[in-house]
Amino acid sequence: MQIIYLITTGGTIEKVYSEQLGKVHNSASKIGQYLTRLRLPDCDVRVIPIMNKDSLEMTQEDRVGLVAEMSRLLPEGHPFVITHGTDTMVETGLYLQRTFPSLHVPVVLTGAMTPLGFEGSDGLQNLTESLMASRLLGPGVYIVMHGRVFPADHVRKDRDLGTFVETTQSVNPGGSE
Ligand code: ASP
Repeated sequence: MQIIYLITTGGTIEKVYSEQLGKVHNSASKIGQYLTRLRLPDCDVRVIPIMNKDSLEMTQEDRVGLVAEMSRLLPEGHPFVITHGTDTMVETGLYLQRTFPSLHVPVVLTGAMTPLGFEGSDGLQNLTESLMASRLLGPGVYIVMHGRVFPADHVRKDRDLGTFVETTQSVNPGGSE
């Protein structure tokens, strides 16, 4: 049985519509209910919700908390998928790359441009592809979105295109390249 740790942090993928507020916002994690729709007979996906925020509101303390959770689980040697807001996904990816320079497992960050369950959502696609990618990739930190895999230091969000695109130059000034 393949174990995958799925750490959830919030972002648009998890947003819900509040009739009271009249807008979408982050509340309780809803990834679990979508996971049950997937057929993953040889896969034990362990969901660990650590926060539920728009990634624009994520603090350094939040990222330190993510690292602490990962450090606790890393010795087990299982892949990670981290659901995250798209606006600062690259920032968190670079932070994880710097914090864990000699990773021995793949760490896949993913999210969505439209919340899970909403018409036209890319959330379940990205989640499914990320789970698959985490089983196939070698050690490292990646972003998986819309059928593509990017190393965390060679990607940026393109707001106009509504997706992520590759950068030829490393975007990690503190990294090894
Ligand atoms: N502002 C959102 C976030 O970064 C955007 C998104 O997730 O697509 O959490």
